[in-house]
Amino acid sequence: MEKINHIMPYMPIASFIFLRQIPIMQTLDLSDDEIIEKITKKELQMYKLEEYLGPNKAVEIRRQIVEKATNSNLADLSIEDADYSQMVNKNAENVIGFIRMPIGISGPITIHGDYASGEFYVPLATTEGALIAGINRGMKAISESNGSKVKILGNAMARAPLFEFDSITEVGEFLNWLDLNMDNVKKIANATTSHGKLRDVKPFVTGNNVWLRMSFETGDAMGMNMATVASEAASSYIEEEFPKAHLVTVSGNMCSDKKESMVNNLLGRGKTVVADAVINRKVCSEVLKTTPEQITRVNMKKNMLGNARAGSTKFSGHSANIVAAAFAATGQDIAQVVESSSCYTWAEARESGLYISVTLPSLEVGTVGGGTSLPSQKAALSIIGAAGQGETIGTNANKLAEIIAAAVLAGELNLLAAQGNRELGKAHSKLGRNIK
Ligand code: NAP
Repeated sequence: MEKINHIMPYMPIASFIFLRQIPIMQTLDLSDDEIIEKITKKELQMYKLEEYLGPNKAVEIRRQIVEKATNSNLADLSIEDADYSQMVNKNAENVIGFIRMPIGISGPITIHGDYASGEFYVPLATTEGALIAGINRGMKAISESNGSKVKILGNAMARAPLFEFDSITEVGEFLNWLDLNMDNVKKIANATTSHGKLRDVKPFVTGNNVWLRMSFETGDAMGMNMATVASEAASSYIEEEFPKAHLVTVSGNMCSDKKESMVNNLLGRGKTVVADAVINRKVCSEVLKTTPEQITRVNMKKNMLGNARAGSTKFSGHSANIVAAAFAATGQDIAQVVESSSCYTWAEARESGLYISVTLPSLEVGTVGGGTSLPSQKAALSIIGAAGQGETIGTNANKLAEIIAAAVLAGELNLLAAQGNRELGKAHSKLGRNIK
Protein backbone atom coordinates (compact mmCIF):
# COMPACT_ATOMS: atom_id res chain seq x y z
CA MET A 1 0.00 0.00 0.00
CA GLU A 2 2.84 2.36 1.01
CA LYS A 3 4.49 1.81 -2.36
CA ILE A 4 1.33 2.26 -4.41
CA ASN A 5 0.44 5.53 -2.68
CA HIS A 6 3.66 7.03 -3.94
CA ILE A 7 2.96 6.34 -7.61
CA MET A 8 2.44 9.69 -9.34
CA PRO A 9 0.57 9.90 -12.62
CA TYR A 10 1.91 12.48 -15.00
CA MET A 11 -0.33 14.81 -16.93
CA PRO A 12 1.25 17.00 -19.58
CA ILE A 13 0.85 20.70 -18.92
CA ALA A 14 0.83 23.14 -21.82
CA SER A 15 1.50 26.84 -21.63
CA PHE A 16 -0.59 27.91 -24.61
CA ILE A 17 -2.54 26.03 -27.27
CA PHE A 18 -1.61 26.40 -30.93
CA LEU A 19 -2.40 24.35 -34.00
CA ARG A 20 -0.42 21.17 -34.41
CA GLN A 21 2.55 21.09 -36.76
CA ILE A 22 4.50 18.08 -37.90
CA PRO A 23 7.85 18.37 -36.11
CA ILE A 24 10.37 17.69 -38.83
CA MET A 25 13.70 18.65 -37.29
CA GLN A 26 15.27 21.76 -38.79
CA THR A 27 18.78 22.72 -37.76
CA LEU A 28 19.08 26.00 -35.87
CA ASP A 29 22.60 27.27 -35.58
CA LEU A 30 21.92 29.30 -32.43
CA SER A 31 22.78 29.05 -28.74
CA ASP A 32 20.01 28.46 -26.17
CA ASP A 33 20.16 32.12 -25.12
CA GLU A 34 19.86 33.27 -28.73
CA ILE A 35 16.83 31.02 -29.29
CA ILE A 36 15.17 32.34 -26.12
CA GLU A 37 15.84 35.92 -27.20
CA LYS A 38 14.43 35.35 -30.68
CA ILE A 39 11.28 33.76 -29.28
CA THR A 40 10.86 36.58 -26.77
CA LYS A 41 11.16 39.07 -29.65
CA LYS A 42 8.67 36.92 -31.68
CA GLU A 43 11.26 36.29 -34.41
CA LEU A 44 10.80 32.54 -33.82
CA GLN A 45 7.59 30.80 -32.78
CA MET A 46 7.47 28.98 -29.46
CA TYR A 47 5.13 26.26 -30.69
CA LYS A 48 7.68 25.30 -33.37
CA LEU A 49 10.44 24.52 -30.85
CA GLU A 50 10.00 20.76 -31.39
CA GLU A 51 10.80 21.27 -35.07
CA TYR A 52 13.93 23.27 -34.29
CA LEU A 53 15.28 21.29 -31.33
CA GLY A 54 13.52 17.94 -30.96
CA PRO A 55 10.93 17.23 -28.23
CA ASN A 56 12.98 17.02 -25.01
CA LYS A 57 15.19 20.06 -25.67
CA ALA A 58 12.10 22.01 -26.78
CA VAL A 59 10.50 21.41 -23.37
CA GLU A 60 13.65 22.54 -21.59
CA ILE A 61 13.90 25.80 -23.58
CA ARG A 62 10.16 26.52 -23.30
CA ARG A 63 10.38 26.24 -19.50
CA GLN A 64 13.19 28.78 -19.47
CA ILE A 65 11.13 31.17 -21.61
CA VAL A 66 8.09 30.83 -19.33
CA GLU A 67 10.19 31.23 -16.17
CA LYS A 68 11.79 34.37 -17.57
CA ALA A 69 8.58 35.90 -18.92
CA THR A 70 6.53 35.21 -15.78
CA ASN A 71 9.26 35.50 -13.15
CA SER A 72 8.33 32.04 -11.88
CA ASN A 73 10.29 28.98 -10.84
CA LEU A 74 9.17 25.74 -12.45
CA ALA A 75 11.49 23.48 -10.45
CA ASP A 76 8.49 21.78 -8.79
CA LEU A 77 6.66 21.32 -12.07
CA SER A 78 8.14 18.02 -13.02
CA ILE A 79 10.14 17.43 -16.18
CA GLU A 80 12.19 14.33 -15.46
CA ASP A 81 11.83 10.74 -16.68
CA ALA A 82 9.78 11.49 -19.75
CA ASP A 83 10.09 10.80 -23.42
CA TYR A 84 8.37 13.87 -24.81
CA SER A 85 8.39 12.50 -28.35
CA GLN A 86 5.57 10.16 -27.23
CA MET A 87 3.16 13.03 -26.77
CA VAL A 88 4.05 15.30 -29.70
CA ASN A 89 1.08 15.51 -32.06
CA LYS A 90 -0.92 13.34 -29.66
CA ASN A 91 -1.56 14.62 -26.19
CA ALA A 92 -0.63 18.28 -25.75
CA GLU A 93 1.03 21.22 -27.44
CA ASN A 94 3.58 23.69 -26.07
CA VAL A 95 4.51 21.20 -23.35
CA ILE A 96 6.48 22.46 -20.33
CA GLY A 97 6.45 19.33 -18.16
CA PHE A 98 3.98 17.36 -16.07
CA ILE A 99 1.66 18.14 -13.24
CA ARG A 100 1.92 15.57 -10.45
CA MET A 101 -1.07 14.29 -8.54
CA PRO A 102 -1.20 11.66 -5.86
CA ILE A 103 -2.67 8.35 -6.90
CA GLY A 104 -4.06 5.94 -4.31
CA ILE A 105 -5.51 2.51 -4.49
CA SER A 106 -8.99 1.45 -3.47
CA GLY A 107 -10.37 -2.04 -3.02
CA PRO A 108 -10.30 -4.84 -3.53
CA ILE A 109 -13.90 -4.85 -4.69
CA THR A 110 -15.70 -7.98 -5.83
CA ILE A 111 -17.33 -7.45 -9.22
CA HIS A 112 -19.57 -9.81 -11.19
CA GLY A 113 -19.62 -8.20 -14.61
CA ASP A 114 -19.58 -9.62 -18.11
CA TYR A 115 -16.08 -8.18 -18.66
CA ALA A 116 -14.78 -7.56 -15.13
CA SER A 117 -15.20 -10.62 -12.97
CA GLY A 118 -13.33 -11.16 -9.69
CA GLU A 119 -11.60 -8.91 -7.17
CA PHE A 120 -10.15 -5.60 -8.32
CA TYR A 121 -7.93 -2.90 -6.91
CA VAL A 122 -8.96 0.42 -8.47
CA PRO A 123 -6.41 3.23 -8.95
CA LEU A 124 -7.76 6.71 -8.18
CA ALA A 125 -5.92 10.03 -8.67
CA THR A 126 -7.17 12.85 -6.49
CA THR A 127 -6.16 15.66 -4.18
CA GLU A 128 -9.34 15.36 -2.09
CA GLY A 129 -8.45 13.78 1.23
CA ALA A 130 -10.99 11.24 2.57
CA LEU A 131 -12.25 10.35 -0.93
CA ILE A 132 -10.29 7.12 -1.37
CA ALA A 133 -10.83 6.13 2.26
CA GLY A 134 -14.59 6.56 1.81
CA ILE A 135 -14.71 4.61 -1.47
CA ASN A 136 -12.69 1.88 0.27
CA ARG A 137 -15.30 1.55 2.97
CA GLY A 138 -18.04 1.28 0.34
CA MET A 139 -16.02 -1.39 -1.50
CA LYS A 140 -15.54 -3.34 1.73
CA ALA A 141 -19.28 -3.28 2.39
CA ILE A 142 -20.03 -4.42 -1.17
CA SER A 143 -17.41 -7.18 -1.16
CA GLU A 144 -18.61 -8.51 2.22
CA SER A 145 -22.14 -8.66 0.77
CA ASN A 146 -21.42 -10.86 -2.29
CA GLY A 147 -20.09 -8.11 -4.53
CA SER A 148 -21.53 -5.87 -7.22
CA LYS A 149 -23.30 -7.08 -10.35
CA VAL A 150 -22.61 -4.88 -13.38
CA LYS A 151 -24.19 -4.76 -16.85
CA ILE A 152 -23.38 -2.67 -19.90
CA LEU A 153 -26.70 -1.84 -21.57
CA GLY A 154 -25.51 0.42 -24.39
CA ASN A 155 -22.31 1.14 -26.28
CA ALA A 156 -22.41 4.14 -28.60
CA MET A 157 -20.14 7.14 -29.00
CA ALA A 158 -22.13 9.92 -30.65
CA ARG A 159 -21.29 12.76 -33.03
CA ALA A 160 -24.10 14.93 -34.43
CA PRO A 161 -23.43 16.86 -37.65
CA LEU A 162 -25.85 19.75 -38.17
CA PHE A 163 -27.28 20.47 -41.64
CA GLU A 164 -29.37 23.44 -42.76
CA PHE A 165 -31.97 23.53 -45.56
CA ASP A 166 -34.00 26.25 -47.25
CA SER A 167 -37.24 25.14 -45.64
CA ILE A 168 -39.09 22.23 -44.10
CA THR A 169 -39.99 21.01 -47.64
CA GLU A 170 -36.32 20.19 -48.32
CA VAL A 171 -36.01 18.76 -44.80
CA GLY A 172 -38.85 16.33 -45.64
CA GLU A 173 -37.19 15.35 -48.94
CA PHE A 174 -33.90 14.85 -47.12
CA LEU A 175 -35.35 12.55 -44.46
CA ASN A 176 -36.84 10.35 -47.21
CA TRP A 177 -33.52 10.36 -49.07
CA LEU A 178 -31.66 9.44 -45.88
CA ASP A 179 -33.93 6.44 -45.28
CA LEU A 180 -33.22 5.15 -48.77
CA ASN A 181 -29.47 5.83 -48.59
CA MET A 182 -28.68 4.85 -45.00
CA ASP A 183 -26.59 1.83 -46.00
CA ASN A 184 -24.33 4.03 -48.13
CA VAL A 185 -23.96 6.64 -45.38
CA LYS A 186 -22.87 3.87 -43.02
CA LYS A 187 -20.51 2.37 -45.59
CA ILE A 188 -18.77 5.72 -46.14
CA ALA A 189 -18.42 6.35 -42.40
CA ASN A 190 -17.17 2.84 -41.65
CA ALA A 191 -14.53 3.04 -44.40
CA THR A 192 -12.61 5.62 -42.30
CA THR A 193 -11.84 3.23 -39.43
CA SER A 194 -11.06 -0.42 -38.88
CA HIS A 195 -12.45 -0.52 -35.31
CA GLY A 196 -15.39 1.87 -35.47
CA LYS A 197 -18.89 0.96 -36.71
CA LEU A 198 -21.70 3.42 -37.35
CA ARG A 199 -24.69 1.68 -35.78
CA ASP A 200 -27.42 4.29 -35.69
CA VAL A 201 -28.33 7.68 -37.19
CA LYS A 202 -31.11 9.54 -35.38
CA PRO A 203 -32.42 12.76 -36.98
CA PHE A 204 -33.56 15.69 -34.81
CA VAL A 205 -35.40 18.51 -36.64
CA THR A 206 -35.86 22.13 -35.56
CA GLY A 207 -37.32 24.27 -38.36
CA ASN A 208 -34.94 24.12 -41.30
CA ASN A 209 -32.13 22.59 -39.20
CA VAL A 210 -31.43 18.85 -38.98
CA TRP A 211 -29.04 17.20 -36.56
CA LEU A 212 -28.02 13.64 -37.42
CA ARG A 213 -26.99 12.03 -34.14
CA MET A 214 -24.59 9.33 -35.37
CA SER A 215 -23.77 6.59 -32.85
CA PHE A 216 -20.68 4.42 -33.21
CA GLU A 217 -19.25 1.34 -31.61
CA THR A 218 -15.58 2.20 -31.10
CA GLY A 219 -13.81 -0.95 -29.86
CA ASP A 220 -11.38 -0.24 -27.02
CA ALA A 221 -11.14 3.47 -27.89
CA MET A 222 -13.30 6.13 -26.23
CA GLY A 223 -13.88 6.99 -29.88
CA MET A 224 -14.36 10.72 -30.09
CA ASN A 225 -11.73 11.31 -32.78
CA MET A 226 -12.82 8.16 -34.58
CA ALA A 227 -16.48 9.23 -34.60
CA THR A 228 -15.58 12.75 -35.71
CA VAL A 229 -13.51 11.59 -38.68
CA ALA A 230 -16.22 9.12 -39.72
CA SER A 231 -18.99 11.72 -39.32
CA GLU A 232 -17.02 14.18 -41.45
CA ALA A 233 -16.77 11.61 -44.25
CA ALA A 234 -20.48 10.76 -43.99
CA SER A 235 -21.39 14.47 -44.00
CA SER A 236 -19.33 15.14 -47.14
CA TYR A 237 -21.06 12.24 -48.87
CA ILE A 238 -24.48 13.61 -47.85
CA GLU A 239 -23.64 17.09 -49.17
CA GLU A 240 -22.42 15.66 -52.47
CA GLU A 241 -25.39 13.34 -53.00
CA PHE A 242 -28.08 15.64 -51.62
CA PRO A 243 -26.92 19.18 -52.53
CA LYS A 244 -29.86 20.85 -50.77
CA ALA A 245 -28.20 19.85 -47.46
CA HIS A 246 -25.60 22.32 -46.22
CA LEU A 247 -23.33 21.27 -43.38
CA VAL A 248 -23.14 23.91 -40.64
CA THR A 249 -20.80 21.94 -38.41
CA VAL A 250 -19.80 18.33 -37.86
CA SER A 251 -20.55 18.77 -34.17
CA GLY A 252 -23.93 20.45 -33.66
CA ASN A 253 -24.11 19.77 -29.90
CA MET A 254 -26.84 17.13 -30.07
CA CYS A 255 -23.85 14.77 -29.55
CA SER A 256 -23.40 16.03 -26.71
CA ASP A 257 -19.71 16.27 -25.76
CA LYS A 258 -18.43 17.68 -22.46
CA LYS A 259 -21.77 19.21 -21.51
CA GLU A 260 -24.62 18.30 -19.18
CA SER A 261 -27.48 17.14 -21.38
CA MET A 262 -30.72 15.20 -21.24
CA VAL A 263 -30.00 13.71 -24.69
CA ASN A 264 -27.08 11.70 -23.26
CA ASN A 265 -29.11 10.72 -20.21
CA LEU A 266 -31.90 9.42 -22.45
CA LEU A 267 -30.04 7.91 -25.42
CA GLY A 268 -26.69 7.15 -23.79
CA ARG A 269 -23.21 8.09 -24.95
CA GLY A 270 -20.14 5.90 -24.60
CA LYS A 271 -21.11 3.05 -22.30
CA THR A 272 -24.47 2.93 -20.52
CA VAL A 273 -23.72 0.97 -17.36
CA VAL A 274 -25.67 -0.20 -14.31
CA ALA A 275 -24.04 -1.56 -11.13
CA ASP A 276 -25.98 -2.86 -8.14
CA ALA A 277 -25.53 -4.71 -4.87
CA VAL A 278 -27.53 -5.93 -1.90
CA ILE A 279 -25.81 -4.97 1.35
CA ASN A 280 -26.95 -7.28 4.12
CA ARG A 281 -28.13 -5.79 7.42
CA LYS A 282 -25.11 -7.02 9.39
CA VAL A 283 -22.66 -5.32 7.00
CA CYS A 284 -24.81 -2.16 6.98
CA SER A 285 -24.53 -2.01 10.73
CA GLU A 286 -20.92 -3.17 11.23
CA VAL A 287 -19.16 -1.58 8.23
CA LEU A 288 -21.38 1.38 7.39
CA LYS A 289 -22.73 2.06 10.92
CA THR A 290 -26.21 2.61 9.61
CA THR A 291 -29.40 0.87 8.46
CA PRO A 292 -30.94 0.25 5.02
CA GLU A 293 -33.86 2.49 6.05
CA GLN A 294 -31.58 5.41 6.93
CA ILE A 295 -29.67 5.14 3.62
CA THR A 296 -32.93 4.91 1.64
CA ARG A 297 -34.29 7.99 3.41
CA VAL A 298 -31.16 10.07 2.72
CA ASN A 299 -31.13 8.92 -0.90
CA MET A 300 -34.79 9.86 -1.48
CA LYS A 301 -34.54 13.26 0.18
CA LYS A 302 -31.03 14.20 -0.98
CA ASN A 303 -30.39 12.52 -4.32
CA MET A 304 -33.95 12.48 -5.67
CA LEU A 305 -35.75 15.45 -4.12
CA GLY A 306 -32.72 17.67 -3.46
CA ASN A 307 -31.36 17.28 -6.97
CA ALA A 308 -34.83 17.78 -8.53
CA ARG A 309 -35.34 20.94 -6.47
CA ALA A 310 -31.89 22.19 -7.51
CA GLY A 311 -32.57 21.46 -11.21
CA SER A 312 -29.61 19.10 -11.46
CA THR A 313 -29.39 16.58 -14.31
CA LYS A 314 -27.44 14.25 -12.00
CA PHE A 315 -29.36 12.29 -9.37
CA SER A 316 -26.42 11.16 -7.28
CA GLY A 317 -24.37 12.34 -4.33
CA HIS A 318 -20.84 12.60 -5.70
CA SER A 319 -20.48 10.33 -8.74
CA ALA A 320 -18.21 12.99 -10.30
CA ASN A 321 -15.65 12.41 -7.54
CA ILE A 322 -15.13 8.77 -8.41
CA VAL A 323 -15.36 9.22 -12.18
CA ALA A 324 -12.87 12.13 -12.10
CA ALA A 325 -10.36 10.25 -9.94
CA ALA A 326 -10.60 7.14 -12.14
CA PHE A 327 -10.37 9.25 -15.33
CA ALA A 328 -7.27 11.13 -14.12
CA ALA A 329 -5.57 7.88 -13.11
CA THR A 330 -6.28 5.97 -16.33
CA GLY A 331 -5.69 8.66 -18.98
CA GLN A 332 -9.30 9.40 -19.96
CA ASP A 333 -10.37 12.77 -21.39
CA ILE A 334 -11.04 14.48 -18.08
CA ALA A 335 -13.40 17.10 -19.52
CA GLN A 336 -15.79 14.24 -20.27
CA VAL A 337 -16.30 13.81 -16.53
CA VAL A 338 -19.14 16.31 -17.12
CA GLU A 339 -21.44 13.76 -18.78
CA SER A 340 -19.65 10.58 -17.73
CA SER A 341 -20.57 11.26 -14.11
CA SER A 342 -24.28 11.55 -14.90
CA CYS A 343 -25.74 9.06 -12.48
CA TYR A 344 -29.03 7.91 -11.02
CA THR A 345 -28.45 6.46 -7.56
CA TRP A 346 -31.31 4.29 -6.34
CA ALA A 347 -31.78 2.68 -2.92
CA GLU A 348 -34.46 0.40 -1.46
CA ALA A 349 -34.67 -0.96 2.08
CA ARG A 350 -35.57 -4.66 1.90
CA GLU A 351 -36.01 -7.33 4.53
CA SER A 352 -32.65 -8.83 3.52
CA GLY A 353 -30.84 -5.50 3.60
CA LEU A 354 -30.20 -2.54 1.32
CA TYR A 355 -30.62 -2.76 -2.45
CA ILE A 356 -28.52 -0.02 -4.06
CA SER A 357 -27.77 0.72 -7.72
CA VAL A 358 -26.09 3.34 -9.87
CA THR A 359 -27.05 3.91 -13.50
CA LEU A 360 -24.49 5.78 -15.59
CA PRO A 361 -26.02 6.59 -19.01
CA SER A 362 -22.93 8.06 -20.63
CA LEU A 363 -19.64 6.74 -19.31
CA GLU A 364 -17.06 7.60 -21.99
CA VAL A 365 -13.96 5.50 -21.55
CA GLY A 366 -11.23 3.84 -23.58
CA THR A 367 -8.09 1.80 -23.03
CA VAL A 368 -6.58 2.70 -26.42
CA GLY A 369 -5.93 6.22 -27.78
CA GLY A 370 -5.91 9.63 -26.08
CA GLY A 371 -4.01 9.71 -22.78
CA THR A 372 -4.25 5.97 -22.19
CA SER A 373 -0.91 5.22 -23.83
CA LEU A 374 1.11 7.58 -21.61
CA PRO A 375 3.35 5.44 -19.36
CA SER A 376 1.86 6.31 -15.92
CA GLN A 377 -1.72 6.04 -17.13
CA LYS A 378 -0.97 2.76 -18.87
CA ALA A 379 0.55 1.43 -15.62
CA ALA A 380 -2.63 2.44 -13.78
CA LEU A 381 -4.73 0.60 -16.39
CA SER A 382 -2.55 -2.47 -15.94
CA ILE A 383 -3.59 -2.60 -12.23
CA ILE A 384 -7.06 -3.58 -13.41
CA GLY A 385 -5.74 -5.69 -16.30
CA ALA A 386 -7.14 -3.41 -18.99
CA ALA A 387 -4.21 -1.66 -20.68
CA GLY A 388 -4.48 -1.42 -24.46
CA GLN A 389 -6.59 -3.65 -26.67
CA GLY A 390 -8.64 -6.43 -25.10
CA GLU A 391 -8.35 -10.09 -26.04
CA THR A 392 -11.41 -9.48 -28.15
CA ILE A 393 -11.75 -5.93 -29.46
CA GLY A 394 -13.67 -3.74 -27.04
CA THR A 395 -13.43 -6.03 -24.01
CA ASN A 396 -10.84 -3.93 -22.17
CA ALA A 397 -12.83 -0.70 -22.53
CA ASN A 398 -15.93 -2.55 -21.34
CA LYS A 399 -14.00 -3.96 -18.38
CA LEU A 400 -12.84 -0.48 -17.41
CA ALA A 401 -16.41 0.84 -17.68
CA GLU A 402 -17.73 -1.94 -15.41
CA ILE A 403 -15.02 -1.34 -12.83
CA ILE A 404 -15.61 2.43 -12.75
CA ALA A 405 -19.37 1.85 -12.36
CA ALA A 406 -18.75 -0.51 -9.41
CA ALA A 407 -16.41 2.07 -7.86
CA VAL A 408 -19.12 4.74 -8.27
CA LEU A 409 -21.54 2.40 -6.49
CA ALA A 410 -19.08 2.08 -3.60
CA GLY A 411 -18.60 5.84 -3.41
CA GLU A 412 -22.32 6.55 -3.46
CA LEU A 413 -23.03 3.90 -0.84
CA ASN A 414 -20.38 5.26 1.49
CA LEU A 415 -21.50 8.87 1.11
CA LEU A 416 -25.14 8.02 1.85
CA ALA A 417 -24.06 6.11 4.95
CA ALA A 418 -21.73 8.90 6.10
CA GLN A 419 -24.32 11.63 5.60
CA GLY A 420 -27.01 9.63 7.37
CA ASN A 421 -24.58 9.27 10.28
CA ARG A 422 -23.39 12.87 10.13
CA GLU A 423 -19.84 11.60 9.61
CA LEU A 424 -19.05 13.69 6.52
CA GLY A 425 -17.54 16.72 8.25
CA LYS A 426 -15.64 14.54 10.70
CA ALA A 427 -14.01 12.45 7.95
CA HIS A 428 -13.01 15.51 5.94
CA SER A 429 -11.61 17.29 9.01
CA LYS A 430 -9.51 14.25 9.81
CA LEU A 431 -8.31 13.36 6.31
CA GLY A 432 -8.94 16.27 4.02
CA ARG A 433 -7.65 19.47 5.67
CA ASN A 434 -4.10 20.49 5.23
CA ILE A 435 -3.83 24.26 5.15
CA LYS A 436 -0.60 25.56 6.58
P1 NAP B 1 -7.73 7.96 -31.21
O1 NAP B 1 -6.38 7.68 -30.65
O2 NAP B 1 -7.91 9.16 -32.01
O3 NAP B 1 -8.18 6.73 -32.10
C1 NAP B 1 -8.01 5.42 -31.69
C2 NAP B 1 -7.01 4.77 -32.62
O4 NAP B 1 -6.66 3.48 -32.16
C3 NAP B 1 -7.59 4.59 -34.02
O5 NAP B 1 -6.59 4.95 -34.93
C4 NAP B 1 -7.87 3.10 -34.11
O6 NAP B 1 -7.73 2.62 -35.42
C5 NAP B 1 -6.78 2.56 -33.23
N1 NAP B 1 -7.04 1.28 -32.57
C6 NAP B 1 -6.14 0.29 -32.44
N2 NAP B 1 -6.64 -0.73 -31.73
C7 NAP B 1 -7.90 -0.39 -31.39
C8 NAP B 1 -8.92 -1.02 -30.63
N3 NAP B 1 -8.74 -2.21 -30.09
N4 NAP B 1 -10.09 -0.39 -30.46
C9 NAP B 1 -10.29 0.83 -31.01
N5 NAP B 1 -9.36 1.50 -31.74
C10 NAP B 1 -8.16 0.90 -31.93
O7 NAP B 1 -8.76 7.85 -30.01
P2 NAP B 1 -10.31 8.14 -29.97
O8 NAP B 1 -10.79 7.29 -28.86
O9 NAP B 1 -10.97 8.05 -31.29
O10 NAP B 1 -10.37 9.64 -29.53
C11 NAP B 1 -9.91 9.97 -28.24
C12 NAP B 1 -9.28 11.30 -28.29
O11 NAP B 1 -10.23 12.22 -28.81
C13 NAP B 1 -8.86 11.82 -26.96
O12 NAP B 1 -7.54 12.29 -27.04
C14 NAP B 1 -9.81 12.98 -26.72
O13 NAP B 1 -9.24 13.95 -25.92
C15 NAP B 1 -10.08 13.44 -28.12
N6 NAP B 1 -11.29 14.21 -28.33
C16 NAP B 1 -11.56 14.55 -29.62
C17 NAP B 1 -12.69 15.25 -29.92
C18 NAP B 1 -12.98 15.60 -31.35
O14 NAP B 1 -13.94 16.31 -31.57
N7 NAP B 1 -12.23 15.10 -32.29
C19 NAP B 1 -13.59 15.61 -28.90
C20 NAP B 1 -13.33 15.22 -27.61
C21 NAP B 1 -12.17 14.52 -27.34
P3 NAP B 1 -8.95 2.69 -36.47
O15 NAP B 1 -9.45 4.11 -36.51
O16 NAP B 1 -8.39 2.26 -37.75
O17 NAP B 1 -10.02 1.80 -35.99
